[in-house]
Amino acid sequence: MKSKLLLLYTGGTIGMHKNSSGELIPFDFNDLLRHIPELELLPYEIDHTAFEKPVDSSDITPGHWVEMAQTIYEHYEDYDGFVVLHGTDTMAYSASALSFMLENLNKPVVFTGSQLPIGDLRTDAKENIITSLEIAGSYENGIPLVPEVSLYFEYKLMRGNRTVKISSEHFNAFASPNYPVLCEAGVELEFYKERILPYKKDLFRIFTDMDNRVVILKLFPGISRDYVQAVLQIPDLKAVVLESFGSGNAPRLKWLVEELEKAISSGIKIVNITQCLEGSVAPERYETGKHLKEIGVISGGDMTTEASVAKISYLLGKGVSDKTFRRVMGQSLRGEITE
Ligand code: ASP
Repeated sequence: MKSKLLLLYTGGTIGMHKNSSGELIPFDFNDLLRHIPELELLPYEIDHTAFEKPVDSSDITPGHWVEMAQTIYEHYEDYDGFVVLHGTDTMAYSASALSFMLENLNKPVVFTGSQLPIGDLRTDAKENIITSLEIAGSYENGIPLVPEVSLYFEYKLMRGNRTVKISSEHFNAFASPNYPVLCEAGVELEFYKERILPYKKDLFRIFTDMDNRVVILKLFPGISRDYVQAVLQIPDLKAVVLESFGSGNAPRLKWLVEELEKAISSGIKIVNITQCLEGSVAPERYETGKHLKEIGVISGGDMTTEASVAKISYLLGKGVSDKTFRRVMGQSLRGEITE
């Protein structure tokens, strides 16, 4: 029996064309498929569906995450794997969000896109789509090889919630700085099974009540009290992803500590991650990091900004207690953090 795969087109460069003033805008999905007759040659039964209005991924909202999760949920039993075509700009956010929203996922969900539109002669779209479909359809003894949310780009399959977009020009546009790739596409597809989340038999379900009352606060030398105050006084703010320096360090300015402490005692959760592309926060290493821990800032370990926003929205949405939130932030729910 052929594997059945569902291709979900949400938008992005992959399916864009130039309008009369030369700007790239998303086009109709059937036009996109017309450019890849090779799909017929794959040993899978491939169906497709699309957002009613495909979007440039810079326009993606948490509402679109829900739409993606619901589409997968509605078709879950009918397909062996799913490929989500998505713009590259915010694909790491969507892949991170979906990794939490799809609970007990035990089928492959592969995000991909491209840097050049499918109609462009030098496009990277074909390889990305075709290999993503192959990965989504890869099973061994009835068990999928990658039963998790992943992101495929330029010969590499990465865990979705470990990815970051690193280039707006190169075909090699994504990296997974703190976790090794799950599969490499060379002459053969080489799966690194020991790095892939285990297959589980629990009942698949989706969680769609993501709470997006979270902001990102990036530190920089010269950051002002007014700026920090303005952020922390956002009405109804629930959490802050604090992008600190190096291994989780922040200036030891008295006013900064006061503002953070005030926010924490008013119930705002502050999660410390590094603004470095690679590595983890280690709050004990420097005096400049230790004081954050002492006032109750939570360590986000080696999570990316994208995964932190997604995980926080997920936990806030679940309404977990402060104690549970603090504990779970440091635990791996979907392989998003190194414990
Ligand atoms: N702006 C586009 C998007 O994210 C870029 C891309 O797809 O590569 O939708």
